[in-house]
Amino acid sequence: MSTVVYIGLGSNQGDRLANLRLAVEALKGIPGTQVARTSGIYATEPVGKANQPEFLNLAAEIETGLEPGELLAALQNVEKELGRERGERWGPRIIDLDILYFGQRVVGQPDLIIPHPRAQQRAFVLEPLAELAPELVDPVTGKTVREMLAGLDRRGQRVERAGS
Ligand code: AMP
Repeated sequence: MSTVVYIGLGSNQGDRLANLRLAVEALKGIPGTQVARTSGIYATEPVGKANQPEFLNLAAEIETGLEPGELLAALQNVEKELGRERGERWGPRIIDLDILYFGQRVVGQPDLIIPHPRAQQRAFVLEPLAELAPELVDPVTGKTVREMLAGLDRRGQRVERAGS
């Protein structure tokens, strides 16, 4: 059985656009997984830690036959491969891949929380996601992506569509 899953992708180091494109290509290589659609690319202000470069973010809709834990392991492999290819020390911001939604599944494990806890309050997650799935319902809050976006406190969260 395959599940529709939304992945959040971000990069703020090196050639950010190339990192995102390589990551989308790598998603296509995950066994039992297809990339259905991708959002446009957004330039976004770093949230939390100041003093770091702006991010580029996008969201991808994939279909996968993997279980959530298997998909997380595959995404972590992609993160490692891209970090290594660039010849830089592995750092999560070369490429960051998050499972935002996994169908309507709710997962609460030490290493995997779905819906992703950053999804609900983060413009850099919700803006690209809303392009793909505005009516997607968060299985915990019952709110749609459109509703979460409308209710967002956007202070310190500048997000600009930067291309496709
Ligand atoms: P980060 O450094 O922000 O990429 O965080 C990576 C850590 O978040 C990993 O150790 C994962 O086990 C954990 N994690 C928890 N929930 C998720 C999720 N939904 N998607 C991706 N990583 C997750």
